[in-house]
Amino acid sequence: MTTPDRAILGARIRTLDPHQPVATALAMQDGAITAIGDDAAIRRVCDGTTELIDGTGMTIVPGLTDTHLHPFWGAEATQGLDLQNVTTLGELNAVLAAEWERKQGEGWITGWGLHFEPFLETGIRGDTFADAVGSTPTYLGFFDAHTAVANQAALERAGIDGPRQFEEFASIVCDADGRPTGELQESGAMDLVRSAIPEPTDDDRYRWYVEAMREMNRVGLTGIHGMDGTPATFDLLRKLEGADDLSVRMIMPLWQRPETTFDEMHDQLHLVNERGRRWRGGTAKFFIDGVIESGTAWLVEPDLKGECLHSFWPDPGKYQRAVALFARAGFQCITHAVGDGGVRCALDAYEAAGAAPGIRHRVEHIEQLTDVDLPRFASLGVVASMQPLHMHAFEPDHSDGWQSRFEAERLAKTFRTGDLLRSGATLALGSDWMVAPFDPRLGMAWARLRRRPGQPERPPILADQRLSPLEALQGYTTSAAFTVSEEAVSGQIKVGYRADLTAFAADPLEVDGDTLRDLPVLMTVVDGEIVYRAAE
Ligand SMILES: [Zn+2]
Repeated sequence: MTTPDRAILGARIRTLDPHQPVATALAMQDGAITAIGDDAAIRRVCDGTTELIDGTGMTIVPGLTDTHLHPFWGAEATQGLDLQNVTTLGELNAVLAAEWERKQGEGWITGWGLHFEPFLETGIRGDTFADAVGSTPTYLGFFDAHTAVANQAALERAGIDGPRQFEEFASIVCDADGRPTGELQESGAMDLVRSAIPEPTDDDRYRWYVEAMREMNRVGLTGIHGMDGTPATFDLLRKLEGADDLSVRMIMPLWQRPETTFDEMHDQLHLVNERGRRWRGGTAKFFIDGVIESGTAWLVEPDLKGECLHSFWPDPGKYQRAVALFARAGFQCITHAVGDGGVRCALDAYEAAGAAPGIRHRVEHIEQLTDVDLPRFASLGVVASMQPLHMHAFEPDHSDGWQSRFEAERLAKTFRTGDLLRSGATLALGSDWMVAPFDPRLGMAWARLRRRPGQPERPPILADQRLSPLEALQGYTTSAAFTVSEEAVSGQIKVGYRADLTAFAADPLEVDGDTLRDLPVLMTVVDGEIVYRAAE
């Protein structure tokens, strides 16, 4: 027997393996767990060549996987200033003035994640930060990804001096005199300004991707299920892996759009087995609807505004045929379905298509779910992949853009995580970054609390849908592995399993939901390699 290259001793280990739930030590070799037990047992299999890691003060759990995340798009969209915490115009101006100072007025100033609060009194206007940025072109995106604000200099660079007509819904908001205010609605209008911003180089983009993955490691993520790949993304993954820069494990789907032709789909089927050491394809992604807040989700019955009635695919029958095509070719199918009508369409498609042996299809988001469709997840073996932290904009009085669209009866069918688990379905958890932060501590806290962590005065949103600490952890570990049929190699700490580990400063199952948010991550291990270690 060869000796392990690395071992951890003196830790508290939550294996999530029912046959050996706790241990204090483990050994790893060539990316796999080779032994697990108490310190004495592990010392016996090591020799002088084994690197011994002191696990004192660590609680180690199987490596955490976010099952819904946009790694490359997110890395690009979160460049520039992080404005998520700006609440007033004064703060916004201070942040922008500091950035102007740093860049000495050179190039563009860009930012993302802006909230609407700073503009409540003035309306969304580019001249509200004129003093801070002067004539430096400035483009700031809002957190909803559907709105932006630009200053006069940015509008001029984009050649915008008045209203425009767009094919789809989009708007350059203008005042009574026809002069643009700086507010841009929807991508048609936003892209006009975005395309005037100098393109980043390929090297810039590559660096951003690597930094984003390192940040994921810092919060304890060892794996992600990406959501928007193309064949070119596989080339990028090969490049990252070849340069030893792929620090998270990735599943990467091939995204199919309504306009994708069946010929184009056929041309992708041979890619079913594309893979590297830390990444693989084999999945196809579809969007069947949009989001509830903008009325683009697909509900069985219209919402209170009479909206949310349409599929994102003008012909849902084409979506169902596309699912059947990929399912027959051995792919796992992934469908974004927010509304209960979209969820039903996806379940119908999966039921009709069947799945290759060992493959489980999955539905993403499931923000509304009817009683009729709830038991179908368990009976069809379809995984529910959800993001309870997307309730972060919900107001207790239901006045927000999501809850205000529903009467009490349907508000009771919101993010039914507890009901799905009780029905026997597999529930996997994720963030949908950049829609929400990818920190799994925040994701688990929301799944457990169903309210903002740190605000215990807020009532939980549907208390009976809350998850236990173990159920929330399983959503990021055992269930994440089961979702992609990797339960025999990952999601537990077990001999022969991948050496993907997350080490916390305390037991995440014993820390309350409000404290979990700030529980330090001490170490992250992917494939037996330490990809993050907290400073002493
Ligand atoms: Zn997504």
